Amino acid sequence: MTRISTSTLGFPRMGPNRELKFSLEKYWKGEISDIELLNTANEIEKNGWKLQMEASIDRITVGDHYLYDMVLTWSDNLGLCPSRFQHMDAGLKRMFAMARGVDGSEALSMKKWITSNYHYMVPEYDESTVIKPNFELYLNDIKRGIDYLGAQTATPVVLGPVSLVFFTKISHGTDESVLTTLLPHYKNLLATIAELGVAEVQIHEPALVFAEQNISHLLFIAYPAILPKKGPVINLVSFMEDIGDDNYQWAISQAEIGIISLDFTRGYTMDLIHKFGFPQDKTLGVGMIDSRNVWKIQPEKVIEMSDFLKAHVVKFRIQPSGSLQYLPWDFSCEKELEGHPASSLLSFAKQKLSEIQMVAQVIAGDMLLMKRHADTWDVFHKSVASSTNQPNKLWTEQDFVRSEPFEKRHEKQGLGGPVLPTTTIGSFPQTKEIRRLRSQYRSGKITKAVYEAGIDKQIAYAIGIQEALGLDILVHGEAERTDMVEFFAHQMTGLLFTSNGWVQSFGSRCVRPPIIWTDIQRPYPMTVREFTVAQELTEKPVKGMLTGSITILNWSFPRIDISREEQAFQLALAIRQEVKDLEKAGCRVIQVDEPALREGMPLRQQGRESYLRWAVDAFRLATGGAKSETQIHTHMCYCEFKDCMGAIDRMDTDFNSIENSRSDNATLEAFVDIGYNKGFGPGVYDIHSPVIPTVDFMESKIKGFFTCLPVNQLIVNPDCGLKTRTWPETIDSLKNMVEATAKVRAQI
Ligand code: GLN
Ligand code: ZN
Repeated sequence: MTRISTSTLGFPRMGPNRELKFSLEKYWKGEISDIELLNTANEIEKNGWKLQMEASIDRITVGDHYLYDMVLTWSDNLGLCPSRFQHMDAGLKRMFAMARGVDGSEALSMKKWITSNYHYMVPEYDESTVIKPNFELYLNDIKRGIDYLGAQTATPVVLGPVSLVFFTKISHGTDESVLTTLLPHYKNLLATIAELGVAEVQIHEPALVFAEQNISHLLFIAYPAILPKKGPVINLVSFMEDIGDDNYQWAISQAEIGIISLDFTRGYTMDLIHKFGFPQDKTLGVGMIDSRNVWKIQPEKVIEMSDFLKAHVVKFRIQPSGSLQYLPWDFSCEKELEGHPASSLLSFAKQKLSEIQMVAQVIAGDMLLMKRHADTWDVFHKSVASSTNQPNKLWTEQDFVRSEPFEKRHEKQGLGGPVLPTTTIGSFPQTKEIRRLRSQYRSGKITKAVYEAGIDKQIAYAIGIQEALGLDILVHGEAERTDMVEFFAHQMTGLLFTSNGWVQSFGSRCVRPPIIWTDIQRPYPMTVREFTVAQELTEKPVKGMLTGSITILNWSFPRIDISREEQAFQLALAIRQEVKDLEKAGCRVIQVDEPALREGMPLRQQGRESYLRWAVDAFRLATGGAKSETQIHTHMCYCEFKDCMGAIDRMDTDFNSIENSRSDNATLEAFVDIGYNKGFGPGVYDIHSPVIPTVDFMESKIKGFFTCLPVNQLIVNPDCGLKTRTWPETIDSLKNMVEATAKVRAQI
């Protein structure tokens, strides 16, 4: 049997027990020095290297143990520093200042990272930017890697120049001019790396997967200018989806690129190879081990891929679809899941390493290993089948449609309030007291009755404040929720929870996504008690507050034995039952939040249509059973809707509130352009900032909406939930929002 080689593209950076998180937070508080912070980070990195070496991975990445974020580190390496931070010396302090803000200098903005729930920092290039690269720290990291792993194994990672430019907010010059400024520095860097004697360099170009902007011209400028004629083999790495026809054709035609690493778990990468072939003289990095899901690969996928590779590719290696940073560290720590039917098929970063080896051996011809793997899946399928008695298809066509069209419903939904009703998005400040209450309950220190009484006190407080402020549609405040997904997931069956399955979301923030393992059911009402407590305290309508099925699905690790669509529909049925129960309890307004609907949208047209069809169908299944009299609201916190307006309209909500305050009515115009005629709540102020918005500011915001939309279509609300704000900030801001609305009402 010939041996098939293997590679990785990155390892989790937080450490087995989130050591980096705790060190970062101590460092920011001034409790430890930068040396101590770096020691922790280096220790974690070494720990990861050791695991990868023990798993006999042939190429292991070095220079990629980013303390906060890859894009941030690279913009800092290159000296891309906006003027507001230029008074600081280059170094860790300045990099963290860019990430988190410092003395009145606002942090770089943060964006979601390519269809995932990870966030990156957006570099800025303005007229004062002087590129002053400093690669000292980076090169030291690489040398450490070489010392530990050897120059054949240690594989430096470079964030490619095209992606860096692609992710940068450029307010001076063009993509091309900024790129041209960067290229000599990239060239020097690659030459320096070559001198270190490594066998290979990975150039990560995540921008290759984006379909909207054509980056071909940048690729053609960049690569001839930076690649050394001699030296390490260049591995061009992309992940998250396929790279599309143009970028693929460019990549396979570049003589200096020896390896091309592609994601085979999402998008249409196989089609590209079918269409254009794969050059015999290059190596294909086959990203078939899913770096974004905890499930081990299915046997049928291994066979399909194996046949495909034998037919179309001469040289290849097996690897994960992207960096393993999207996975927790080690499944074997999950003692509570020991013996669970799913446990033999769950694979965190450490287990993925053996999975890579297993697949490489199977493709090399080890059929015994294949049989063992297939048997494990068979046993699991049987336990899934016996774990639930819910037939998978409990819905009919009718279930996706409200019983009457919007116009008819609208007539029946009058709540008796004024025009321009004011409301909030759901959560109120999550104070220390609330957190303590929840953790005391979780650890069994207080009884359920004591806990619920504590929550009810919070609800009463929130209702009292909203009454006093004169808001029109009230919320109970979400004090009982740690997180908008976890709260619901915990009350459904079919999901697993880990005790240490942390994944970095941004900076030191980590999340623990639930794992869906079998069919989902909702055994009892999830939100009715808190709604009822709140509604009994006021005459005004209280909004029922639910998280939509797409958001629960996207922020969990989904099953791979059934489609995401089917899982979304199962979750939707659970939400649908909750809608019914809220109605029974007297709820007249129900908001189903879907902040992740757009995040999960594939980047290329091919996948996008089918995603939007089933994602919106799931929303319609969740809400279609509501009575005509019930106002269904949704909330989505982002503002790029242009490419999915048809889908948003098809959600058929009675009210839609969106993030808007930072987007100059551009979002609004997208709604107007398609003739959106349902209720609409563009946020009137940004909740991410502690600054209190003035009455004048919000008055003119609201009036600005009138240029696009009639008054009776509008509702007034902040951009998002208020859980990260303090009570004084919340009260002052909402007071101004109500006052601004009153002033506008008096003028119409
Ligand atoms: N109802 C949720 C809240 O207010 C919505 C959060 C979100 O959109 N991310 O917190
Ligand atoms: Zn939001």
